Amino acid sequence: PNERRRTLGWLLVALVLAVTVANTFRFVGRVIVARAVLLAMMELRQRLYARVLGLPMKFFAGRQTSDLVTRFVQDVQEIQRGLITVLGKFVQEPLRAVFILALALTLDWRITLTLLVVAPLTVVIFWAVGRKVKKANRKLLGIYGQMIGALTHTLHSLRVVKAYTAEPLERQRLANIDRRMVREQLKLARLEAFVSPMMETLAVIAGSCVTVWLASLVLNQQLSPSKFVALGFILSVLMDPLRKLSDVYVRVQRATAGAERIFHLLDHPLEDEQAAGGVEIGPLRDRIEYQHVTFSYAGSERPALRDISLAIQRGETIAIVGPNGSGKTTLISLLLRLFDPDEGRILYDGIDLREVSIRSLRKQIAYVAQEGVIFGGTPIENIAYGDPNPDLERVREAARRASADEFIRALPGGYEAKLGERGTTLSGGQAQRLAIARAIYRDAPVLIFDEATSQVDSDSERKIHDALREVARERTTLIIAHRLSTIQFADRIVVLDAGKLLDAGTHAELVERCPLYRNLCHKQLVREMAAT
Ligand code: ADP
Ligand code: MG
Repeated sequence: PNERRRTLGWLLVALVLAVTVANTFRFVGRVIVARAVLLAMMELRQRLYARVLGLPMKFFAGRQTSDLVTRFVQDVQEIQRGLITVLGKFVQEPLRAVFILALALTLDWRITLTLLVVAPLTVVIFWAVGRKVKKANRKLLGIYGQMIGALTHTLHSLRVVKAYTAEPLERQRLANIDRRMVREQLKLARLEAFVSPMMETLAVIAGSCVTVWLASLVLNQQLSPSKFVALGFILSVLMDPLRKLSDVYVRVQRATAGAERIFHLLDHPLEDEQAAGGVEIGPLRDRIEYQHVTFSYAGSERPALRDISLAIQRGETIAIVGPNGSGKTTLISLLLRLFDPDEGRILYDGIDLREVSIRSLRKQIAYVAQEGVIFGGTPIENIAYGDPNPDLERVREAARRASADEFIRALPGGYEAKLGERGTTLSGGQAQRLAIARAIYRDAPVLIFDEATSQVDSDSERKIHDALREVARERTTLIIAHRLSTIQFADRIVVLDAGKLLDAGTHAELVERCPLYRNLCHKQLVREMAAT
C-alpha cells in the first residue's frame, strides 16, 4: 500500500507540474500574442494615418470622412480580433488535427482516406459561408461609418437641431441607420452560429454512416474490434479542433473584410507619387502664371474654371472677386496644388507646378483659410503651426503684427492658453487674426488669403485689415476679397464669373468697363452701409 500511495503521489505531482507548466505557457503565449498583435495594430494605424494625410484632395471629394474614421477604429479592431484568434488557435488546432489524423492513418489508412471524402463538402460549405460573412461585414463596417457620420454631424449642429426642435427627425435618422446596422449584425450572428452546429451535424451523419460500415467490416472479420474502437475514439476527438477551426474561419473572414477596406487606402497612391516631378523651388523671383487653365471637380459636369490665363508679378497684391461659386477658392487651390489643372498649366518662375516637389511649393506659401482654422492647443502652437521648434520671440512678433497680441494676452493663460478644438473660445475676428499671425510666422514669399464672408465688427475688421496690409506689403499676395476696403488696397483686381476670367484691372478701370464688377461693388457697398 505504501508503494502504491507513493506512486499515486508521484503521478499527482507530475500531473500538477504538467498542468502548471502548460498553463504558464498558455498565459505567456496569450500575453505574447496580445502584445504582438496590439503593437502590429499600432503600426498599422500609424501607417494608415500617414497614408491618409498624404492622399490627394481629389480622394476626399465626395467621400464621408466618418467612413475613414471608422477604418481607424472598427476595421482595425476586426483585424485585431482576427489575428488574436488566428495566432491563438490557428497554430494549435491544425497541429492537433494533423496529429490525430496521422494516428488514424497508421491504424488503418484505407478507412481513414475513405473518411476524408467528406472533406470537399466541408470546404464548399466553408467557402460559401465565408463569402457571405465577408460581404455582410463589409456592409456592416460601411454602416458604422454612416452612424458615426450622422452622430458627429448632428452633435456639431446641435444648436440648429434644437432651435428647429428637430430632435425627433434626428432620432429617426439615427434609428434608421441603427436598424440597418442590426440587420447586418444579425445576419453575421446567424452565419457565425450556423457554421459550428452545421459542421457537427454533418460530422455525426458521416460518422453514423461510417460506423455502420465499420461495424459490418468487424462482423465480416475484416477489422478487429479493438481497431474499431480506437478509430471511433480518434475520429470523435477530431471533432473538437474542427469545431474550433470553423469559428476561427468565420473570424478570419470578418477580419478580411476590414483588411480589404484598410488596404484599399494603403494601396492608394499618395499625392507625391502621382506627381512625377520633384524640382525643388525657392522663393518667387519673377512671377506666377496661369496659362489657359481649365479644371472640373470629379463628378461635376460644369468646369469650375475655364481657360484662365493670369500672370502675377512678384510683389503684386491681387484681389479676386466674383459671385458665389464663380471659382475663387478653386483658383487658389490649384496654386497650392491641392488639385492639378485638367488643361493648361500653372508656371512658377517658368516651371510647371506638375514638375515641382509639392513640399517645396507649399513652403513658399502662407495660407489663411476662410474660416480662420484653430487647432486644439495653445496660441503658440497655433501660430507656429508646422514648426517643431517654435521661436517664442517670432510668435509674439507675428501676433503683434496681426493685431492678435492684445487679445491673446487677455486670454486666461495668455500665450499658453488652451484653445478649444474648434477655437470655440475665440470670436470669428480673433480666429481670423490668429490665422493671419500664423501666416506671418510662416514668413513665406507668397500669401493666399481667403477673406471671411461673415461680418465682424468694424473695430475687428480694421485690425484684420491693418494686419493684412502688413503681411501683404513685401509679399506676392492673392486675396479672395469680399469687402471694398480689402479690394481697394490690391494692385490689381481679377473678376471671375462662372469659372471664367471676366476682366482684370485696377478698381477705377473695372468700375469704368466691367458691369459685373460695378454690380458687386454696389451690392457690397449697400451691405456695408447696412451693417454700420
Ligand atoms: P467660390 O469660392 O468662388 O465660391 P468655388 O471655387 O468654391 O467658388 O466653386 C466653384 C464651383 O465648383 C462651384 O460650382 C462649386 O459648386 C464647385 N465645387 C467647389 N468645390 C467642389 C468640390 N469639392 N467638389 C465638386 N464641386 C465643387
Ligand atoms: Mg470660396
